[in-house]
Amino acid sequence: MKSNQLRIAMLSVHSSPLGELGTKDTGGMSVYIRELARELGKQGHLVDIYTRQNNAAGEQCVPASKNVSLIHIEAGTSGYIDKLSLYPHLAEFFQQMERFRMRENRRYDIVHSNYWLSGKVGAWAQMHWHVPHFVLFHTLGAVKNMFPIGSPEPELRIATEKTVTKTCSVILAETERERRQLTELYDADLDKIKVIPCGVNFDRFRPLDWNQARGRLGIHANERILLYVGRLDPLKGVDRLITALSFLDHHQNLRLLIVGGDGSETAEFRSLQELTQNLGLENSVTFTGRVDHNDLPHYYSAADMLVLPSHTESFGLVGLEALACGTPVISTRVGAMEQIIRSNETGYLVNSADPRSLAEGIELFMPQVRDGFLSRAAIRNSVIEYSWEKVAAAMADAYLGAVSCAYPGFVTGTAGRLPAFAV
Ligand code: UDP
Repeated sequence: MKSNQLRIAMLSVHSSPLGELGTKDTGGMSVYIRELARELGKQGHLVDIYTRQNNAAGEQCVPASKNVSLIHIEAGTSGYIDKLSLYPHLAEFFQQMERFRMRENRRYDIVHSNYWLSGKVGAWAQMHWHVPHFVLFHTLGAVKNMFPIGSPEPELRIATEKTVTKTCSVILAETERERRQLTELYDADLDKIKVIPCGVNFDRFRPLDWNQARGRLGIHANERILLYVGRLDPLKGVDRLITALSFLDHHQNLRLLIVGGDGSETAEFRSLQELTQNLGLENSVTFTGRVDHNDLPHYYSAADMLVLPSHTESFGLVGLEALACGTPVISTRVGAMEQIIRSNETGYLVNSADPRSLAEGIELFMPQVRDGFLSRAAIRNSVIEYSWEKVAAAMADAYLGAVSCAYPGFVTGTAGRLPAFAV
């Protein structure tokens, strides 16, 4: 074993990192896990990602990328189980995970859990394996509940998040804002919080030829394209963006492309479509459905601006992806957008989140787009430090720091003892 090689158990109980991006439970968190694991693997660490098996077929252990395996664990009834209903099956998940781990004689130096459900399982792993537990919640229940939109997050989630922040070794936050929220809402220990941002895959997300991208998507050269990319969750504010478009009807050939969602049968889709019809915008709004991650650079490259109208975001990966493709971003002040957008240069930050403010932001930035003042290369360069390579290196440093602190004189692969099988 190489000297600084770490063995990492990455937990993603409710959502497979290899699921279909842009659908209900599969978005930024899945990208985060697959990209971070891939890069950690490339840097020589060993990563096992544990996720619940939510379909019958397939191997239990699947190689995902170099040094990275995806391990499917059966818990609860087969098939999809919604997030909250998964809670009673978490103990079984941990037991099955332990069964696999002992059968395969796998040991870990670190457990890194994602989302509150995995945080609960991570806490058991920390206790039984005697290894540091890193948790990243991705979103916080208490933050979501600050917005009276959609159904409120249950008290069980908030209580679990609070407990996990107390028991874990390191709480990861994606932004300074999230660090503040963790201390203010959960009374989390400031010294335990480590801020490590998300990254972007610069090989995939790069400026493509504008004409070719438009040709491929059937977009005419004289159209002005506003782009939305993401899940169709009410907290994403897509309704506000559609409404904003109705204030921009003096712009000729302005079209909004809405990418993402679970298809035309869902309540979210129907309500957005109804809004579009009520505003008479059928000819200006196109719902594309979900688009494969590998095809998204064509959309970013063909668009004039990405618009992020969210009420709240933990990071806002799509903003970073657009900038990496050289496309400006108009956004509310959410997630990492204030850090990564240079307002008036690489996009525009709107102060208020109502449709009129969004429309004003788009309007104010339009001349820059129309008059060709923007350099796609400069926009991309403005975020060049956000590579997954750097994120993974920072994460590995943090892991090593925590392991060396818990086990002075630590030799990798020996931090955890094989525990007695119990939950
Ligand atoms: N995404 C995708 N196809 C789609 C819609 C979204 O691949 O049709 C990806 C998008 O590229 C991004 C992720 O899903 O990487 C969404 O992450 P973000 O942080 O913006 O939102 P979250 O889902 O975490 O709320």
